[in-house]
Amino acid sequence: MSGIVHAKVVIIGSGAAGCTAAIYAARAMLEPVMIRGIQPGGQLTITTDVENYPGFADVIQGPWLMEQMEKQAAQVGARLVSDHVNKVELSQRPFRITCDSGDTYIAESLVIATGAQARWLDLPSEQAFRGHGVSACATCDGFFYRGKNVIVVGGGNTAVEEALFLTNFANKVTVVHRRDAFRAERILQDRLFRHPKIVVIWDGVLDQVLGNEDPPKVAGAAIRNVKTGAVTEIGADGIFIAIGHSPASELFVGQIQMKPNGYIRTAPYSTATSVPGVFAAGDVTDDVYRQAVTAAGMGCMAALEAERFLTAHKVESIAAE
Ligand code: NAP
Repeated sequence: MSGIVHAKVVIIGSGAAGCTAAIYAARAMLEPVMIRGIQPGGQLTITTDVENYPGFADVIQGPWLMEQMEKQAAQVGARLVSDHVNKVELSQRPFRITCDSGDTYIAESLVIATGAQARWLDLPSEQAFRGHGVSACATCDGFFYRGKNVIVVGGGNTAVEEALFLTNFANKVTVVHRRDAFRAERILQDRLFRHPKIVVIWDGVLDQVLGNEDPPKVAGAAIRNVKTGAVTEIGADGIFIAIGHSPASELFVGQIQMKPNGYIRTAPYSTATSVPGVFAAGDVTDDVYRQAVTAAGMGCMAALEAERFLTAHKVESIAAE
C-alpha cells in the first residue's frame, strides 16, 4: 500500500555521496530517509579492486565498501528505502518526491546524490548489439568472455581498469583509444603496458560493431584510424564501451540550474543548488574530480548544509509565529 512519509531530509541515491550524507544527517538527529535507487551502492558496486580509498592499506572490493557504508548509515539511524524516484517537485517547500512503489516523501530538505551512468557512443550498431556482446560493465559481464577476445574502447581509468579486469577471463584484450596517450593514472597505465594479454590500438575509434543478426552476436569491430582514415576490421566476441559517464540529473531538468553538460550547478565551496533547501553531492554535480572519496566528502558537506538550512528555517518560522 502506498503512503505519504514526512521527512526532514530525503537523500536520493545510495553511492558514496548518498551514504555519507545519510551518516552525517542521522548523527545530527535529522532521521534522514535514503532512497537507494535502481543501482543501490552506486558505481562502486560495479567495480572490483579499490586501492585509493583512504584508510585501507590492503586492496578492498567496491561492493564490500558500499555494504559497509550502507550498514554504517543504517546503524546510526538513517532509514534506507529500496525504491526508485520517478518524480520530484521542487517548486515549493516541502518538496514532493514520488517513487515507483507509489510512496510519496514530503521533504523539508533534499540531498541529490543520484550519481552518473555510463556513456555510450550512440552508434546504431552499438545499440543493436547491446546485451548481445556490447556492454558498458566489465565487472558485470566479463565472466562471459572466458577464453575469448574482447575490445575495450576508451582511455581513462575506467577503460584501463576494465581492460586489466578482463584479462582474468579473456585470451586477448584490445584497447582502442582515440588519441595516442591515455588519461588514466600512471600506475594503471604501467600495469596495462606490462600485461602480456593486452594490446593497444592508438588513434582509433569504433566505427561499427560487426556481428551476426539472428541471433544477434558480436563478431568483431571496424576500427577507423583518426589520422589516416583507414578502416581495419578485427575479430572480437565482446566489446566494452568505457568512455566516461553522464550525470543522472534528468529528474531535475527545468527545476534546478544545471551546467550545459547536465551536471547540477552548486554554489562555490558548497553543495547548495539554485533551489534553497536542495543540495547536490557526488558525481551528479562533480565533473572535475569524480572520485569515491570526493563524493563522500560532498555527501558530508550536503548533510551539514542541510542541517544548517533546517536550523535557520526553524528559527525563521518561530520568528514568524
Ligand atoms: P574519463 O576519465 O572521462 O575518460 C573517458 C575516456 O573515454 C577518455 O580517454 C576519452 O578520450 C574517451 N572518450 C570519451 N568520449 C569518447 C568517444 N566519443 N569516443 C571515443 N573515446 C571517447 O572517464 P572514466 O574513465 O569513466 O573516469 C571517470 C572518472 O572516474 C575520472 O575522474 C576517473 O579518474 C574516475 N575513476 C577513478 C577510478 C580509480 O580511481 N581507480 C576508477 C574509475 C574511474 P580522451 O582521453 O581523448 O578525452
